[in-house]
Amino acid sequence: MKYYSTNGKAPLADLRKAVVKGLAEDRGLYMPQSLKRLPDSFFDSIDKLSFQEIAFNVAEAFFGEDIPADRLKAIVYDTLSFDCPVVKVTDSIYSLELFHGPTLAFKDVGARFMARLLQYFRDGDGLVNVLVATSGDTGSAVANGFLGVEGTRVFVLYPKGKVSPIQECQFTTLGRNITALEIDGVFDDCQALVKNAFMDDELNSLMKLTSANSINVARFLPQSFYYFYAYAQMKARGLADNLVICVPSGNFGNICSALFAKAMGLPVKRFIAANNINDVFYKYLQTGVYTPKHSVQTLANAMDVGDPSNFARILDLYGGSWENIRKDISGAVVNDSAIKKSILECWRDNAYLLDPHGACGFRALSDGLQPGEAGVFCETAHPAKFKDTVEKVIGEPVAIPERLAEFMKGQKQAVSLPKDFEDFKYYLKTTAR
Ligand SMILES: *Cc1c(COP(=O)(O)O)cnc(C)c1O
Repeated sequence: MKYYSTNGKAPLADLRKAVVKGLAEDRGLYMPQSLKRLPDSFFDSIDKLSFQEIAFNVAEAFFGEDIPADRLKAIVYDTLSFDCPVVKVTDSIYSLELFHGPTLAFKDVGARFMARLLQYFRDGDGLVNVLVATSGDTGSAVANGFLGVEGTRVFVLYPKGKVSPIQECQFTTLGRNITALEIDGVFDDCQALVKNAFMDDELNSLMKLTSANSINVARFLPQSFYYFYAYAQMKARGLADNLVICVPSGNFGNICSALFAKAMGLPVKRFIAANNINDVFYKYLQTGVYTPKHSVQTLANAMDVGDPSNFARILDLYGGSWENIRKDISGAVVNDSAIKKSILECWRDNAYLLDPHGACGFRALSDGLQPGEAGVFCETAHPAKFKDTVEKVIGEPVAIPERLAEFMKGQKQAVSLPKDFEDFKYYLKTTAR
């Protein structure tokens, strides 16, 4: 499979290049040249298959030409060492729980897959430097996905004071091949530093740099696995005919992989992109005009994005057509008070505890579901990752799962840097090799 750039001015890349480079030469995002439709027979019997079996079928459609089946199978099965169950919340609303991985957020799936794929592609003894900007959960998922993976070194850039203490300890306490960089700025500054590093000829001549942000196809494509699996679980319940999927969105990588799944034949009726008040995509759906903004801090901080990087992919997937995008996706904006209200009401009425991101999804789906439809929203993180917020809202203690408590015992280690590219570049030149 070849990958082209959304900006159309870079040469086609093979999978190895797309994964190692992350971003195309013209700053565009890589897109697979074709999306294979999976056969009807696959969807007819999908509810009889395990998560790993479903995922391997999907992975073969993406990567089968480039990776031998036995290696791909090992990567997929090793990545998916945990379940992504669909859990009933109300009669028509179900939660796709994506927080059962090592760092309790959905990014574990893509990060674990990418680490294993990069290891597969690593040539000889070269060291690969992985740069990742995080607004919260990406950093921990990538750091943990790569922890101890030979030949890789990870730099996690995060905005000082803008991630929760629990999120922070998940990538600042690991040590080994993981370094946390505390940037004096906001998430968009971190993202800009990473993007600029990839465009810098001098840095690229000195070291092998790769991105593990959701722009990387190796992180982004595997996220489609759990949408097929969610469909399978809804089909087993007899609820898959008018299925609506609602995805709490920030950089729009997660929902974009769901749209890819639909393009591969997954019978989803429509999608809802739930935003917090960072509503650039919502405004686009209303007006057809895309206007990036500075991000604003909210309770759902992993969605505090003012210029979603995967917007370019969505546009490309729909041939630039606003009308066609609007046929498949509607939008919703959930402000902080609605997030709190949803957490409280869902806990009180359904005994189901939401995290602030899942709360955006639940709210948008509850408001947007039509009669005769069944809906699945992504519960993208475990509520205990946002313990302070959630406890304040429901007035009850939230238990911390064991694997989360483990992180909190560690000692925080981070390097502080200003948000200027020259400082970051100097740091990399003197540190990474
Ligand atoms: C990253 C993240 C999101 C947003 O996902 P995108 O792919 O960036 O749209 C939502 N919720 C949580 C908990 C996240 O970590």
